[in-house]
Amino acid sequence: MKLYNLSKIILIIIFFFLAGLGTCYPENGLPVSIRVLLHSGAVPVKISSPAPFKFIINGKQMKADSAKDYLVQIKNDALIINDPDGKELVKSCSPASVISTAGEPLKLNGKRYRGKLQILAGNGKFLILNTLPLEDYLLGVLPLEFNVKEAEALKAQAVVARTYALGKILKSSKKDYDITSDPSNQAYGGFDAETLLCSNAVKETSGQILTFNGKLADSVCYHSTCGGHTEDNEKVFGTKPISYLRGVDCRESCKDSRFYTWKITWSRESLEKIINDSLGSQKKIGKLRSIEILEQGSSGRVSKLLVEGENGKIVISGDEIRKFLKFPNDKGRLQNLYSTLFKISLTIDKGEIIQIEADGGGWGHGVGMCQFGALGMAKKGMDYRQILLYYFNGIKIDDMAQFVK
Ligand SMILES: [Zn+2]
Repeated sequence: MKLYNLSKIILIIIFFFLAGLGTCYPENGLPVSIRVLLHSGAVPVKISSPAPFKFIINGKQMKADSAKDYLVQIKNDALIINDPDGKELVKSCSPASVISTAGEPLKLNGKRYRGKLQILAGNGKFLILNTLPLEDYLLGVLPLEFNVKEAEALKAQAVVARTYALGKILKSSKKDYDITSDPSNQAYGGFDAETLLCSNAVKETSGQILTFNGKLADSVCYHSTCGGHTEDNEKVFGTKPISYLRGVDCRESCKDSRFYTWKITWSRESLEKIINDSLGSQKKIGKLRSIEILEQGSSGRVSKLLVEGENGKIVISGDEIRKFLKFPNDKGRLQNLYSTLFKISLTIDKGEIIQIEADGGGWGHGVGMCQFGALGMAKKGMDYRQILLYYFNGIKIDDMAQFVK
């Protein structure tokens, strides 16, 4: 009996010892890190930290003072780091790491980031990456991608964003970085972007990802507002049909979005200029003669559009259509059409087009999870699992541990 109690105590001690070691890793216990591209180019940057930090190049460590800016620049493919007095601290063609020695975030051009920074130089420019645990990365993604208050909608977003990011990590081992920090991948704002509600959603779904037939569902995607119905992936991206990216009826869940319906009007002259400019070095179509919808997807999205001008005609497919039908926004800048879910009407006078009107709905490509729809469903009482299963046909919510052994 005494021996039994002793072994029980030893086991408890071992358990708490191991639990203590867990602080070396992200909260879910997995040492999965992601390399996020923060900066690319030849423009010098400033690096600092509220607490002492250090640069490491070729195994050599250089201590840096807190609250002072260190200028990083490139000259003839060599990386140059100047100390706060402007004196050259180091000149090297090797990659550099920047590590906080007190656990405080590092600052790049005044913005704070968790984890460490890595600087790679070459071809007349340098790349600055933020390397950090995947779970910490997500804390800086959610507030920029989906800053709402509904916990279940945020949790759905966290699982999709984690799945997307893990897919990028698994495909980029031979690349300089895993993911960019702009919305073309996933918007990432680092430590300064973090909010309590979004951080809670990441922590409460820690390590959860989406799988399909036992494999990571690495094609998952999302968009702001579907406008009533999401779309099959092949009709938008021209890729092979993916079972879990079938269009579904959003059941008006996203109708509170201000982009649920919209109307854009162009004069013939303005739209033909936009279309001709979009053709770049390709042959211009000249004066606009007609626009016709040739094909639509299951949601009603235009998947093929015929545009005819005096010098010829073009057929535009999928999400490319949005780039050809740009319109001037409130700031006077041209932006892509909100979505491809629209009907076209032409005003014709004496055989010539005078005005073109697109009567449409939704914002974004329309594939995968509709964010405003997820919000609407969460408000109706659905939990994040139900929301994810609704938008992604046949997927399973799994633990990512099996993919990162
Ligand atoms: Zn929707």
